[in-house]
Amino acid sequence: MPRMKFYICLISVFLTHLLWADDTLLISIYNRSSLQQVLINPDGAVYTVEGKDLNVSIAPGDWLRITKKEGAFHVQGAKQDFGLHRTLRIRASVSSSLLKVLPENPKKLEQWYGGNIRVEYTLKGLKLLNEVALEEYVAGVVQAESGVDQNKEYYKVQGIICRTFALSNINKHITEGFNLCDQTHCQVYHGKARAKSYIHEALGETQGKVLVDSNLRFIEAVFHSNCGGQTLNSEDYWRGSINYLRSKLDSLCENMPHWSWTFALESDQWLGYLKQKFNFPIHDTIHAYNAKNWHPQYRGKWFLNPGFRIPVRTIREDWRLRSTNFSVVEKDGIVTIIGTGFGHGVGLCQEGAMARSDKESFSDILHFYYENVYIVDKNRVAFYKKYK
Ligand SMILES: [Zn+2]
Ligand SMILES: [Zn+2]
Repeated sequence: MPRMKFYICLISVFLTHLLWADDTLLISIYNRSSLQQVLINPDGAVYTVEGKDLNVSIAPGDWLRITKKEGAFHVQGAKQDFGLHRTLRIRASVSSSLLKVLPENPKKLEQWYGGNIRVEYTLKGLKLLNEVALEEYVAGVVQAESGVDQNKEYYKVQGIICRTFALSNINKHITEGFNLCDQTHCQVYHGKARAKSYIHEALGETQGKVLVDSNLRFIEAVFHSNCGGQTLNSEDYWRGSINYLRSKLDSLCENMPHWSWTFALESDQWLGYLKQKFNFPIHDTIHAYNAKNWHPQYRGKWFLNPGFRIPVRTIREDWRLRSTNFSVVEKDGIVTIIGTGFGHGVGLCQEGAMARSDKESFSDILHFYYENVYIVDKNRVAFYKKYK
């Protein structure tokens, strides 16, 4: 086993170096879709199709249909049959061109990709990898994450967060032969950001900028949809205490789309749950009353007195509540959980940041939600480390 680990380590060092050299990432697209057949169209320019004993050009209007077979995949072109292959690279001749990818089996939405596409045979299905420049990938993630209606300053915030995440997680899938997947496991990526918005302008003005901590390490730039008025310390939700993920009072997300929610259940059901799950003393009238009428002044880790050891996170997960920021009231045998916010509550509050971006700069917003961090150019990190 140690030998195996050594080789994985060696491969990862090699690949990281390779991928960093020109800032190109390998993203697994339609990850875990077990694709059996896919149609690929070049859009706007000529592409080269490279495989074993194969090197041909396809022009706009041509197509490639790739179908998984036993032990390989079959590549058909518009005018000719390219035979069976196990790996293929569809390489752009012009950097601004696009490939339209349409999975036909199983059917998925078509998406457009910049850069190159690699196809690899696996037992489960076709593995599609997008070789894409870091900045283009970040733009795609920002569009998938934030939509197209935000203002420029907000896109700068989200771009710096997504870029920092990509670089700090660059080895997340390295043993599978790529950097990041296109699902929430890493960051959602639906290909090139093509909609009209300020995304490209914002990313151009903050190109290469990342967040590092006081040891010049990329930070865990976690975020959530809406904090409900107060963000959490990292240890209030997860185990470790991280010095830049500190609780903040945040009134600017109030009345944004994910601000408030309620959840109602019968009082007996609520008390029965607390008794069964946490051995809560429901037969004590005062404790039972408090469990049905709880109005914390600030949010934290525990429900009621910390001595009862009832994490609000467990309550959230068990009842699928939108957040851990809630109070409890009882009326006529019904307990209503009245909550604000959406998400885990640690780090940056997206809707708060959106509201702030009307007046504040991306730098002020990032420094508000992440304490003691620095916004630096990713290419300067090694330099700063040397002279630290
Ligand atoms: Zn992933
Ligand atoms: Zn907030």
